[in-house]
Amino acid sequence: MRKKIVAGNWKMNNDLAETELFLAELKKQVFPENVVVMIAPSFTNLNHAFKSLREHNVELVAQNMHQNNEGAFTGEISAKMLKSVGAKTVILGHSERRAFFNEDNAVLAEKVNTAIENEMTIIFCIGEELEDRKKGTHFELIKTQLSEGLFHVSDDAWENIIIAYEPVWAIGTGETASPAQAQEMHKFIRKTIAESYLEVIAEKISILYGGSVKPDNASEIFGQDDVDGGLIGGASLKVDSFMKIVNSF
Ligand code: PEP
Repeated sequence: MRKKIVAGNWKMNNDLAETELFLAELKKQVFPENVVVMIAPSFTNLNHAFKSLREHNVELVAQNMHQNNEGAFTGEISAKMLKSVGAKTVILGHSERRAFFNEDNAVLAEKVNTAIENEMTIIFCIGEELEDRKKGTHFELIKTQLSEGLFHVSDDAWENIIIAYEPVWAIGTGETASPAQAQEMHKFIRKTIAESYLEVIAEKISILYGGSVKPDNASEIFGQDDVDGGLIGGASLKVDSFMKIVNSF
């Protein structure tokens, strides 16, 4: 049985006071037993969130990390630092990191290695631009992102890997992939993993969909066979909409 996961990616939103308000509200909620709930606040609020959520079943996620373990990298955050403030899971390869911070598959492969070496769980994001979809090269692109960024890992490493398929044209745009488009790509991703690794590994991997998931479209998307949950941006910033999505399975 694959894990069902809803992860909120706050991006560069919510200062300390806003984080406190959100957490106070979140802690009053009852989560469905079969859903793993995660939130990814900014680096500056991770430790506060960790302490605040100690008694609660919410996993804390970092939005990024550096590929080196330490050193002269002004402004960067290491895996060890993240773990020391309670974040054992990290998002790698988000399309905003790829687009605005020039993170390519090669650097992502290094980050993947560092996360594994530090025994962290990885939410590995992949997704095509609208142009790729229009040209019909989206499957090929996804395969390349997987093979160059992730497919060097050992069989064992898959225990701690979650994939997030996020078509770039659907992120923050209000445009969602149709449930059929999401299912088609998730099935392709699973098949691609099965071809490079083992069928049993592919069957166990949670593949999340991300891209304008909202309370009114979540259940149809989550109802697809190969969709195991969502990585949620905008709609994760309010407890009310986030909880409606958490309750959408
Ligand atoms: C995201 O940032 O991962 C995301 C899916 O954003 P949104 O839900 O706002 O499209």
